[in-house]
Amino acid sequence: MSVSHYFDTMDYGPALESDLDARAWLARHSDGFGHFIGGAFTPVASGTLFDTQEPATGKLLAHVTQGTPADIDAAVAAARAAQAAWFGIGGHARARHLYALARMVQRHARLFAVLEALDNGKPVRETRDIDVPLVARHLYHHAGWAQLQEREFADQVPVGVIGQIVPWNFPLLMLAWKIAPALALGNTVVLKPAEFTPLSALLFAELAAQAGLPPGVLNIVTGDGATGAALVAHPDVNKIAFTGSTDVGRQIREQTAGSGKSLTLELGGKSPFIVFDDADIDAAIEGVVDAIWFNQGQVCCAGARLLVQEGIAEDFYARLKHRMGHLRAGTPLDKTIDLGSLIAPSQHARVQKLVNIGIAEGAACYQPTISLPAGGSYFPPTLLTNVHPASTVATEEIFGPVLVAMTFRTYDEALTIANNSRYGLAASVWSETIGLALAVAPALKAGVVWINSTNLFDAGVGFGGVRESGYGREGGREGCYEYLKPAAWARRQPRAASADTSAETARGAAASQLPPVDRTAKLYIGGKQARSDGEQSRGVFAFDGQPAGEVGLGNRKDIRNAVAAAHAAAAWSGTTAHRRAQALYYLAENLSARAAEFAARIVALTGVSAAAAEQEVDASISRLFAYGAWADKYEGAVHVPPMRGVALAMVEPVGVVGVICPDEAPLLAFVSLVAPLIAMGNRVVVVPSERYPLVATDFYQVLETSDLPGGVINIVTGAAATLLDTLAAHDDVDAVWAFGAPALSTSAERLSTGNLKRTLVDYGLATDWHDALAAEGPVWLRHATQIKNVWIPYGE
Ligand code: NAD
Repeated sequence: MSVSHYFDTMDYGPALESDLDARAWLARHSDGFGHFIGGAFTPVASGTLFDTQEPATGKLLAHVTQGTPADIDAAVAAARAAQAAWFGIGGHARARHLYALARMVQRHARLFAVLEALDNGKPVRETRDIDVPLVARHLYHHAGWAQLQEREFADQVPVGVIGQIVPWNFPLLMLAWKIAPALALGNTVVLKPAEFTPLSALLFAELAAQAGLPPGVLNIVTGDGATGAALVAHPDVNKIAFTGSTDVGRQIREQTAGSGKSLTLELGGKSPFIVFDDADIDAAIEGVVDAIWFNQGQVCCAGARLLVQEGIAEDFYARLKHRMGHLRAGTPLDKTIDLGSLIAPSQHARVQKLVNIGIAEGAACYQPTISLPAGGSYFPPTLLTNVHPASTVATEEIFGPVLVAMTFRTYDEALTIANNSRYGLAASVWSETIGLALAVAPALKAGVVWINSTNLFDAGVGFGGVRESGYGREGGREGCYEYLKPAAWARRQPRAASADTSAETARGAAASQLPPVDRTAKLYIGGKQARSDGEQSRGVFAFDGQPAGEVGLGNRKDIRNAVAAAHAAAAWSGTTAHRRAQALYYLAENLSARAAEFAARIVALTGVSAAAAEQEVDASISRLFAYGAWADKYEGAVHVPPMRGVALAMVEPVGVVGVICPDEAPLLAFVSLVAPLIAMGNRVVVVPSERYPLVATDFYQVLETSDLPGGVINIVTGAAATLLDTLAAHDDVDAVWAFGAPALSTSAERLSTGNLKRTLVDYGLATDWHDALAAEGPVWLRHATQIKNVWIPYGE
């Protein structure tokens, strides 16, 4: 071939990366890999090994050990034994270790990149330019958090021993996202890589030991889902951090319900890629390539649903098809390819099946005639048009190189289709009109929004989803909090079995001289007092057994009505922080006007002294002031990731939140739980103290004289356990907070799996509501909000 031929055709030949070092490393372990526990590989035992293949060829790569519950036991024991000392060495020492790990990854960057490409089938260009540099960046960034921990997280302590489970699509990167914050902040880890791709984790562990990471701090146990399940079930694991499918995430939520293990779930997605008619079309086409053909589309946040404004759709599709014809598929070690192999034949079959379903449901399927290597699990880039938003391919995660395209006419229609998904991981918005793009971003149900860009990641910018894409964030300050817990909460003790021996009584009980007040209180729904659906009421008794009044016995229907009212009050979430602050101050003012009445009621019901009751009312007024203060001060951040652009970390309300209040400090606990939620723009359905609900029903008058819109706070009295079950299982409730008996925590977590709502529960541990450190402030605001990161690249 002549130079002029190449000049004319712009063809180029293969440029293979050498795999000599990676093969040599594999050859050194040709007998098989044990687990990495307590700083060394466990001996390989025949009969426990399984094979792992090279996806691009189907050839054997290595033998790996299938982890048993006994292996998990050993790894957890090693992690437990190492944890106190690892935290004890201090932030600076851990920073040095993380820095050493970052440098180790950079020194061995090529080996990692090649091994990852062999093990996963993805192009080495991507592992070299994206996965491995991001791994190093994560370790550097979190070395920084370790260094700053004592100053920036002074009121927090590490969670302890963390079980981490990662998928096969970004094996090393997911490892880094998981272990960097966990280790930096003083936890120790047992990580289970995916069964398809365990090798880069094993290499990492081996090199980490050489880099001086103390034994037991990082343990790797290989195996399949059964090994993962054993890790989840282990009683000495304090937290599970899981990345993978929504189905397995759901199982893990159910399995850990009530166990006290904290949980983060980074799950699947079906992210929209929205192109308005004023977008830079060429840039948007390249965006699509990155959105859905990066990593063969096996990306949780892949822009898998293309939404194009109708007027430009035909032109856009034509240009996209042209571009698709120029994608190159090939062996992962060829640096000139765009597409490698899918992970395994089973994944290939799954993707093909979904494409067939799409066609059967009426989609037009376009696949360019590009050559695919023989063998392996190569799948052509695929575009499905004429897709209905409710069809299978538009709603199910395909997790392959398949783009489904739909059109929209108006801004509102774009938002409706984009948000018409049970997932909420990420979204891309393409428009040259900055005002339009910035208006769309907050309206999208997603944890990450990329404006005129896609698939951007950085260790300093949190990543994670909403809805069935899971909860929790990885990266940034918010990611650090996933591996910390408030020191004040760590000190909590189980609540006394009977409420009248609680701290409140200890505060100075003296039987009230006041006679019980007879009264039947209704429910409070949509800003009005409402009779309970069942027209039933129940007696309320004071601490001394004297009848104190009656309250409505709310049922399932009442909860549904309250949830509907809370939804109807959605405007509250969009109202200004200044307005929310004023509403909270005004509630405080109204409560203060009735302070004596509330104090008397508390005395009569709970039997605390008049002084203690006054103190509770005062503390409640102060708490309302505190959240009025926070309403316009708990704000987001502007991140400056390593690119030309910014990422705005925006604080958003969670939505509609169900709240179960405990019996102790019935007014103060009620206010402490409700105020942070409404301060941040949530709407709530509250079940007040089951034992002393009259304090909350008295609060109706405070609400009625306030300027809080109807439906922002709804109150349903009745049996906490029954009402909680309805709230936790309700698909239009976005989070549940349950405080009280341990069984409430278990139900809240177990029943939250339907729509994967967030939960905040106390496992029966008593909060001292008078202690502002434990019961007030950012700890609560973090649970009342979620961060959306909006990436805005700039420049020509
Ligand atoms: P998967 O859920 O099948 O497996 C993920 C991991 O969980 C593997 O290590 C697996 O062995 C383990 N596992 C399986 N069953 C288990 C059980 N019962 N208990 C404990 N562990 C168990 O998912 P996958 O097919 O490997 O990965 C693809 C999925 O991961 C996609 O849905 C994708 O969207 C998601 N993902 C999400 C993110 C994110 O950050 N949100 C990132 C990457 C991938």
